[in-house]
Amino acid sequence: DRSAQDNVYFESYSDVTVHEEMIADKVRTNSYRLGILKNYKAIKGKVVLDVGAGTCVLSIFCVHAGAKKVYAVEASAIAEQAKEIVKLNKMEDKITIIKGMLETVELPENVDVIVSEWMGYALLHESMLNSVLFARDKWLKPGGCILPSVAELYIAPINDPVVEDRLNFWSTVKDQYGVDMTCMYDFARKCIMMTSEIAVNSVTMEDVLSHPAKFAELDLHTVTTEQLESVKGSFNCECFGSSSVNALCIWFSVTFPGEDRPLVLCTSPFKQETHWKQSILYLDEAVEVTQDTKVAGEITLSPSVKNPRHLCVHLDYSIGEYTNKSKTFSMGD
Ligand code: SAH
Repeated sequence: DRSAQDNVYFESYSDVTVHEEMIADKVRTNSYRLGILKNYKAIKGKVVLDVGAGTCVLSIFCVHAGAKKVYAVEASAIAEQAKEIVKLNKMEDKITIIKGMLETVELPENVDVIVSEWMGYALLHESMLNSVLFARDKWLKPGGCILPSVAELYIAPINDPVVEDRLNFWSTVKDQYGVDMTCMYDFARKCIMMTSEIAVNSVTMEDVLSHPAKFAELDLHTVTTEQLESVKGSFNCECFGSSSVNALCIWFSVTFPGEDRPLVLCTSPFKQETHWKQSILYLDEAVEVTQDTKVAGEITLSPSVKNPRHLCVHLDYSIGEYTNKSKTFSMGD
């Protein structure tokens, strides 16, 4: 049930590995650091809530930005380490670690700012954004600020060369050993491409076959839990040149507001890699494209019915003359 699933989820954050991966991700952690420092005017002398504080690194950045008080809420056992980190940095007077689920803890006061690093693979895996919205609706003062404040989702057709090589491998066997195994192609395609599991892997920019299309934008000040039940958008891409589309790739960005210009943490294949990499949706079969071939459709992200912390993606798409296709994917189910 739901609470057993939550236990598994919070258990995964009680180990050092996941926190090591996040803190070691310099793009992620520096973006948060700069995004928070840039917003010092909203933070200085104010009360902050850190939703899912982990090691409380973001709470400490908020103190650096002048926060008067930070409530750092963390449900997993890593909260004990967070307490030690606060002590070591002599911030006991500013940061209060509250061990518990955001949805059930009590805070002594409402807050001016919410900060949280809630993004999962393909943005919405883990469904942690719901907790941030809960915090907003319960604890954020009217006119208060949420950092980051906007999230965007992107999609683009790709050619995954590893998959292509693995399929073509079977036509090289005859030259190597004198045994014809070309008939393995279709079996290999079924095993490798006809999967509904969303793969997390880094896509190199050379393998992206069109300009990316933004298919959804969430304003964290206004989006509702109901809207997160189905995040839907359409896309329309035109291919750069001749290739073969064997997957669609999705990624996200989040934006911290800024007076001069906003700060964007972007997990695009065109940017420096992050631990989120990209999420890959393999098509059942590759489709040949040429310059300007249209890749269009509609994509829906929703929490999985089996486990709402897992992500489900439904794709309706057309690639040139190859039309009216659809496929459903999931992550972790
Ligand atoms: N803020 C830290 C950790 C981010 S990972 C950093 O940036 O490094 C997300 C953390 O949120 C995890 O430690 C997880 O246990 C915690 N978390 C997720 N949902 C929560 C909830 N509803 N209540 C309390 N903690 C939560």
